[in-house]
Amino acid sequence: MSVIPRILKLDAGGLPVEWVDWREAVSLYFTDKIAWEAGTEKILLRGGRSRDTGIRSELSIDSIIAVRDRSHRFARNLVPTLTRRELFHRDGGLCMYCGTHLSFSQMQIEHVVPRSKGGEHAWRNVVSTCEPCNRYKDDRTPEQAGMKLLALPYEPNLAEWLILANRRILADQQAFLERLAPRRVRVAS
Ligand SMILES: [Zn+2]
Repeated sequence: MSVIPRILKLDAGGLPVEWVDWREAVSLYFTDKIAWEAGTEKILLRGGRSRDTGIRSELSIDSIIAVRDRSHRFARNLVPTLTRRELFHRDGGLCMYCGTHLSFSQMQIEHVVPRSKGGEHAWRNVVSTCEPCNRYKDDRTPEQAGMKLLALPYEPNLAEWLILANRRILADQQAFLERLAPRRVRVAS
């Protein structure tokens, strides 16, 4: 059952809240919490056969569902959690100094302004790097180390974070979230 895509949950205002797995989506359907459906894809779940009728139960769930409560999570502009995996995807799996393709296990988290110099552990101050670049840069700023960032670190909004957080995102879910993501030009000056 692990191949079933995750469902994008919206609040009653139509703004994204979170990914839910199919079990949670099913329970929202059965408890009548769904206000409307907004996806173009349907996920067909097949249950067991009825002992009486021999008919197999089926439920079609939508790829994007809006629930009745308002979460205001998106509107409140909450900063999404900084996690290693989402950072790796934000930076395209590249070392932000030398451009080497990294595997997830090779990737290191680098503080652009070192923590010892007051740099924060926050989206705008961290990038993915390879081990040699991280070691070479050490406890210096990029200027001090004579290194240039390939792209500027940014703080994703919730829509971008939801895109980064789901590697098996469906096309309609991606399109929905992209409309809420700011256009970014990621070229370091
Ligand atoms: Zn590197």
